[in-house]
Amino acid sequence: DSFMKLNLPRPLIQACKTLGYEKPTPIQAACIPLAMLGRDLCASAITGSGKTAAFALPTLERLMYRPKRVSATRALILTPTRELAVQIHSMIQKLAQYTDIKCGLIVGGLSVREQEVVLRSMPDIVVATPGRMIDHLRNSMSVDLDDLSVLILDEADRLLQTGFATEIQELVRLSPKRRQTMLFSATMTDEVKELAKLSLNKPLRLSA
Ligand code: AMP
Repeated sequence: DSFMKLNLPRPLIQACKTLGYEKPTPIQAACIPLAMLGRDLCASAITGSGKTAAFALPTLERLMYRPKRVSATRALILTPTRELAVQIHSMIQKLAQYTDIKCGLIVGGLSVREQEVVLRSMPDIVVATPGRMIDHLRNSMSVDLDDLSVLILDEADRLLQTGFATEIQELVRLSPKRRQTMLFSATMTDEVKELAKLSLNKPLRLSA
């Protein structure tokens, strides 16, 4: 099994090679083909399984071949902590290194003004923690979700424990109905199932 067999575009296969990835992890082998069909996914997966690339590679593939409206966020990745957001952002930049897709980071701890600069640079993909993302959507002219085509809810169980459950629901409701959504969670609690119901359309369920 190799990344070649997944029909990923050449610049993404090249990036996996540069990163030293020889073959897809089980969650990647399961997720990537289904995500590339445009399906919504509900996946049980833990950190260390390779789940970041499992959602990032098909997201990059989708954005590479779709026309871009200037200034629009086209994919939003919500994750519970600043540390996870920093890691995901860094991994996406590495996976996107041979494409022209740009990724921005929106987290607490950086000044709102610094983040306005990030948003005005018009990243295709935004990696964010929920509280800070909602702040920007409510208070800033530099971002909207009107052109969002991919929404990722990463570590959904922990995401719902951040105290921002209402804000996360609001972000889902603010996203266009016609979009692809992928939810990842280590555990499938009742709260996660509720969020899955709100956010996913005929999801395929996976675990690895
Ligand atoms: P994650 O579960 O996404 O946090 O990834 C855990 C670690 O596995 C990260 O350091 C990745 O760089 C690495 N990784 C992801 N996919 C692969 C792969 N196909 N082959 C080898 N390492 C990988």
